[in-house]
Amino acid sequence: AIEIRGLRKTFGTLEVLSGIDLDVESGEVVCVIGPSGSGKSTLLRCVNLLEEPSGGTVTVDGVELTDPDVDIDAARRRIGMVFQSFNLFPHLTVLGNVTVAQRKVLKRDKAEAERVARANLERVGLADKVDSYPEKLSGGQQQRVAIARALAMDPRVMLFDEPTSALDPELVGDVLGVMRGLADEGMTMVVVTHEMSFAREVADRVVFMDGGVVVEQGAPDRVIANPEHERTRTFLARVL
Ligand code: ATP
Ligand code: MG
Repeated sequence: AIEIRGLRKTFGTLEVLSGIDLDVESGEVVCVIGPSGSGKSTLLRCVNLLEEPSGGTVTVDGVELTDPDVDIDAARRRIGMVFQSFNLFPHLTVLGNVTVAQRKVLKRDKAEAERVARANLERVGLADKVDSYPEKLSGGQQQRVAIARALAMDPRVMLFDEPTSALDPELVGDVLGVMRGLADEGMTMVVVTHEMSFAREVADRVVFMDGGVVVEQGAPDRVIANPEHERTRTFLARVL
């Protein structure tokens, strides 16, 4: 579970997050939508401390990440993150990409890391690509490797920042299918996305952000089909 309280983030004089309160229960899938520049990526980056919050608290499975005494590296290991750009190592095979952090960070031995990697590549439908290099894979396959790499670290929660935005339209479905499978398995997920049909079908809750605040949130059908706020209506009219 994730508990965010009064989260603020400023860059110089620019306030990007202006007091975000958000709870994500264990096993819940929350989709975050909102216009460009509303602070969605910054929110995710503050949750795994890629950005240092300027105020407020972030707690993941009972560990307050914003506590100055917390072991940041240990805390961050509980959180898987998947970005728009897959950032695979081009000189490593798929298996190498999915084992390297397991070995370096979790200190797993080679056999164990490879066992976990193969299991997670199976999970994303790429068991037959273990020996391929990233350049030989489609964007959708590369993104699924990135998901397997994150899953191999045994995360307690998974954060996705527009995971399908860089993909050709025909490759989006495979990646969303893998994410849907994770949701069905009970993974706790926060997904920033413009894929409204995914949000509608898979999310337990949709959060609409604008100007660094949560404007409204609720069941997907309620927020997407029947928004309460004018800003939400304006945004949805542009993306639907
Ligand atoms: P998009 O839909 O385009 O991805 P977003 O909702 O993810 O947008 P953010 O990337 O969180 O928005 O950015 C929110 C605001 O913070 C923007 O005005 C952006 O320019 C600013 N910002 C983000 N990162 C930094 C940074 N490192 N330094 C300065 N300003 C930043
Ligand atoms: Mg963003």
